[in-house]
Amino acid sequence: MSEHQITVLVMAPLVALFAWSVAAINGAVERGKYDINPAIGIRTSSTMHCEDCWRAGHHAAAGPLCHMLPPVLLLALAALAATLLESVSGPVPAYAMLAVGFSWIMAAMVAAAHKANAAARNLHPENQHPDAQLPR
Ligand SMILES: [Zn+2]
Repeated sequence: MSEHQITVLVMAPLVALFAWSVAAINGAVERGKYDINPAIGIRTSSTMHCEDCWRAGHHAAAGPLCHMLPPVLLLALAALAATLLESVSGPVPAYAMLAVGFSWIMAAMVAAAHKANAAARNLHPENQHPDAQLPR
């Protein structure tokens, strides 16, 4: 077994685990397991505005993150298959599949953050937030 194959055998499960973790953590926040906190979740100024925004943002983010899972898991599996064929195709295809999978996760996280922000901002149209009506 070559160093390339060992690398791919280690990296492919890590890419799959990373993809699953991102979706699972968002799901846990969406289900109310984590309120606004300093460590976990999509922590933008819009999503952290209030608990309603926090929940709505993570609900909106679930779509892009869940849709990212199947292709990324397939890419990780394909990378494992490709590395078994290293003697035929060389190491590049397996690495390329892992790179595409990782990039796909990053793109999904950016898309999820955009959706989360939009959902949070839509929750209280400007100057209509309940806090704005409280006496100061
Ligand atoms: Zn809010």
